[in-house]
Amino acid sequence: MGFDMTWFKREDGEYPAPENGPQGENGPDAGFAAGASAKTVRTEGLWVKCPGCRQPLYKADLEASLMVCPKCQQHFKLSARARIDLLLEPGYELVDAGLRSTDPLNFTDVKPYKQRLRKARELTGLDDAILNAIGRMGPHEVVLSAMEYGFIGGSMGAVVGETIARAVDRARLTHKPLIVVAASGGARMMEGVVSLMQMAKIATALAQLDDARVPYISVLTDPTTGGVTASFAMLGDLNIAEPGALIGFAGPRVIEQTIRQKLPEGFQRAEFLLEKGFLDAVVHRRDLKAYLIRALEFLKAPAVA
Ligand SMILES: [Zn+2]
Repeated sequence: MGFDMTWFKREDGEYPAPENGPQGENGPDAGFAAGASAKTVRTEGLWVKCPGCRQPLYKADLEASLMVCPKCQQHFKLSARARIDLLLEPGYELVDAGLRSTDPLNFTDVKPYKQRLRKARELTGLDDAILNAIGRMGPHEVVLSAMEYGFIGGSMGAVVGETIARAVDRARLTHKPLIVVAASGGARMMEGVVSLMQMAKIATALAQLDDARVPYISVLTDPTTGGVTASFAMLGDLNIAEPGALIGFAGPRVIEQTIRQKLPEGFQRAEFLLEKGFLDAVVHRRDLKAYLIRALEFLKAPAVA
């Protein structure tokens, strides 16, 4: 994950000394931890500021707690690869890789789309904003598809659509439950209508999966918006989200202007959507795998006559 250093710009006076103090063995920032008024601190990317509680966090602590703030439980974004590592047992296999966008519209906004793709590939080491894997989750053989927000905002173009559709087909043909972890700003504008077609393609594949009575669990993480919410992310047999995740179709400003009303507090956050019946559960990241395993036991149990 790329973190910039802007948290050094104080917005309201001095930082309080962190409660437990960052106590690295050879902590280069010991002076900072002790509340010394050093103007410049060399951190070398060891620290991040939590957007939830604005506390500085030692990056190693954050990683040890699955990228969840130990102080306020803010769930940071997780890369696709880290997500698969979190949910599957070691020895899983990555599949359906190697697809690359052809830039069907030869699209340019402020930069050529081809250039954005190149940059995103360098940044993430992935071909597009998705990774498929097959492996075990506890005792269950599953097909897992995880989106990568770091690749052009996790947007869904033809490659993401096709890769998810392949995961769905794989689940249907092998009769293994499907889990898709969404993290997306929605359809990929640079592929225009081609990106919108992916919604129908995946929804059709999911209908076939449903006919074959293979379970599908959708996990919505921060953020899940636009055409991804409007298609596969809300079509699970179970739709579960991580705490605090932003989930919606249009942005709040667009909705306010359309309905000419002020939106309620917490609108489009996971907890609000759970309360209103849009989600089945909100599950903390540390409990997610155990929750999914139990849910799969339930979903795979034979129907009682
Ligand atoms: Zn926090």
